[in-house]
Amino acid sequence: MSAGSEKVIREVIREDIRGRTAYHVPQAEGMVKLDAMENPYPLPEALRREIAEAVASARINRYPDPKAPALVKRLREVMGIGPEYGVLLGNGSDEIIHMIMQSVARPGAVALWPQPNFFMFGLYAQLAGLRDVGVPLRADFTLDTGPFLRAMREHRPPVVFIAYPNNPTGNLFSEDAIAEIITAAPGLVVVDEAYHAFARKTFMTRIAEFPNLVVMRTLSKLGLAGIRLGYAVAHPEWIGEFDKVRSPYNVNVLTQIVAELALAHYDAFDARAREIIAERERLTGELGKVRGVTVFPSEANFVLARVPEATRVFEGMKRRDVLIRNLHGSFPLLDQCLRFTVGTPEENRRSFAAFAEALAEALPGR
Ligand code: PMP
Repeated sequence: MSAGSEKVIREVIREDIRGRTAYHVPQAEGMVKLDAMENPYPLPEALRREIAEAVASARINRYPDPKAPALVKRLREVMGIGPEYGVLLGNGSDEIIHMIMQSVARPGAVALWPQPNFFMFGLYAQLAGLRDVGVPLRADFTLDTGPFLRAMREHRPPVVFIAYPNNPTGNLFSEDAIAEIITAAPGLVVVDEAYHAFARKTFMTRIAEFPNLVVMRTLSKLGLAGIRLGYAVAHPEWIGEFDKVRSPYNVNVLTQIVAELALAHYDAFDARAREIIAERERLTGELGKVRGVTVFPSEANFVLARVPEATRVFEGMKRRDVLIRNLHGSFPLLDQCLRFTVGTPEENRRSFAAFAEALAEALPGR
C-alpha cells in the first residue's frame, strides 16, 4: 500500500480501532478441534433431509421477515417463554451483546462484569465507547458479591453481564449471589446462558421477579453454531429499545428456516447435550488424576485445568493435531490454564492422550 493511503487510513480510521488486532480464529484443518466449545455432533439424518427440502423452496430472493414469527413462536413453545415477555433475535448472541452495548453506551459509562469472562463482552463494550470494568473472581472462580456490589455503587453501570455458567471458568455462580446483584443493580443485568443445555439452571423463570433482567441464550452450543442464532428474553419494553439498534434483516432466511425445524427436534439435541455432560464428567475425572493438574468443576461443555507448563503442553498437543485453548496470559487468574472443549468420546480420548504425552514431554524429569 502506498504511503498516501496509509496516511488517509490514519486520518480516517479511529485510533482505538487501528490499535486492535482482528479476532483470530486459529487454523484447525485436519485437527481435533476442541478450542471453541462447538458441539461435535452432526444433525440427525432425518432432520438434514427435512432441512434440505425446506431450503430448496426457501424464498431467498426476498429479505427475511424481520420479526421471524414462525421461529419466535417455536422458540416460545420449546423454551417456555411466556407471551408477557419480548424476544430479540441476533446473528449469534454475539450480535445481541453488541446491540445491548450500543443501546446503553453514553460517554464515560461503565459496563461491569466478573472477571475472567467472555472476551466479546469487553470487545463490544469498548467498540461502543463504554469503559469495561472487570471485578476479579475469587481464586476458586466463585463470585465475591462484596466487591461486586461496591463496584456497582462506584461505577453505576448501565449494564452488567454475567455468564451463567461462566466462560472460560465453566462454573455456575451462586444463584443467590446473582439475584442479589440483579436486585442492587442500577441498570440492566444480562444473564448470558450460552451453556444452558449443559448446566440446566436458568434465570429464565425469574424474569417476572426482576424488571431489569435480560436472559440471553444461543443455539450455537446445541449443535447449530454454523447458522448463528442467539436470542434474548426480557420485559417487552427493553426488547423494544434494543430493537431500534438491530439491523432490520439480521437473521437471514436460511437461519430462520433451519432453526425453526431444528427446534422441533429439541429432544434429540437435548439427548446429545446429556452425552456431552457425561463425557465432561469423564474428562474431568481423568484430568484430575494427573499429578500436578488442578481441574475446575464445570457445568458447561468445556473443562478448565491448571497444568504445569501450560504453553508448552498446548504446543505439544497442537503438534499432535489436537487444538484446545491456551488461556495462560489472558487474565492473571488464569495463570497456566488450558481449556478443553468436550467432544465425542473418541475426540476426548485423543485429546487426553495428546495431553498426557505433551505433559510428559514438557516435564521430562518427572
Ligand atoms: N456467551 C458466551 C458466554 C460464550 O461463551 C459464547 C460463545 N463462545 C457466546 C456468548 C457467543 O455465542 P454465539 O455468538 O455463537 O451465540
